[in-house]
Amino acid sequence: MDDRLKQELRAICRGEVRFDEPMARHTSFGVGGPADALLLPGDLDEVRAVCRRLVSQEIPILPLGDGTNMLVSDAGWRGAVICLTKGLRVISFQEETGSAEAGASLSVFSRQCQRAGLAGMEWACSVPGTLGGAMRGNAGAFGGETFDRLLSVEALDMGTGQTLLLKKEDLPHSYRRCDLPPGLLLLRGAFALAGGRPEEIEARMDDILSRRKATQPLYERNAGCIFKNPAGSSAGLLIDQAGCKGLGVGGAVVSDLHANFMVNRGGATAADVLTLIERIRDRVRQHAGIELETEIRTIGESP
Ligand SMILES: Cc1cc2nc3c(=O)[nH]c(=O)nc-3n(C[C@H](O)[C@H](O)[C@H](O)COP(=O)(O)OP(=O)(O)OC[C@H]3O[C@@H](n4cnc5c(N)ncnc54)[C@H](O)[C@@H]3O)c2cc1C
Repeated sequence: MDDRLKQELRAICRGEVRFDEPMARHTSFGVGGPADALLLPGDLDEVRAVCRRLVSQEIPILPLGDGTNMLVSDAGWRGAVICLTKGLRVISFQEETGSAEAGASLSVFSRQCQRAGLAGMEWACSVPGTLGGAMRGNAGAFGGETFDRLLSVEALDMGTGQTLLLKKEDLPHSYRRCDLPPGLLLLRGAFALAGGRPEEIEARMDDILSRRKATQPLYERNAGCIFKNPAGSSAGLLIDQAGCKGLGVGGAVVSDLHANFMVNRGGATAADVLTLIERIRDRVRQHAGIELETEIRTIGESP
């Protein structure tokens, strides 16, 4: 990225701009080399202007939420990262419809639904990350998932600068997957909720939170579940049965608490994590004859 473009980006994006920014600082795993630029626009106009400028220069754009489902390579990301957590995080309610901007926290949205006496997002109270990340990956937990109650999304076509309104039916989705057309940046989601008593909704959330605390390594650096659950089975159970708990490569170790979580015990590199992923896959293949598919998104150049 040349100096002139850097200056222009600084002028357009008044939120925050950083160059050669280590992605390890922006991922829950604490892993990842530098991105050429990290931009946190202050509002939608800035998002639009930044995208227009980057697209005109053919600079690849990576949307970033809270980085809780990402493994960024040690070589980093050659291009710009756009994060909406600074400028797009408004949550609002109209009757039984909840609407949240993509940079809003999913768990905060879930909590605000509860306070407003609106049920349906309880499952999300303990899932880290933003609405944008949740919609992109159809995040889910404890029997619920993002698309269950999604009505529509607003997305920016980063190429043309147009805002599109897409209905849920326009977005093919399945378990931990949403086939978002390339070049779209999610801006907002609208959700159909149901009236409920705040104290009953809260009781369901408390139950979910205590179950999660008991079964997941929430106090160590990690990126949530590494693998998707194969149909009719649990990836964590398969990994445990294949004897992988405690298996490590460098600073990356399979959690003793939940075998589908990998933790960064300090100094883990993306190469460590990728090697460990392959070791787990091999063991589960040999032990159970099942091919595990990753849930985390691998970003950037190969090491
Ligand atoms: C302790 C822990 C527990 C977890 N538990 C769960 C769980 O129970 N269920 C579950 O589903 N996940 C879980 N996860 C994973 C993670 O929280 C979810 O996948 C979450 O939805 C990711 O959101 P994010 O904002 O961090 O996305 P990021 O990791 O920042 O991004 C994920 C993907 O979404 C894309 N993206 C982000 N924002 C946008 C946008 N605005 N427009 C277009 N694309 C975008 C990114 O480019 C990337 O490809 C857990 C993670 C941790 C660390």
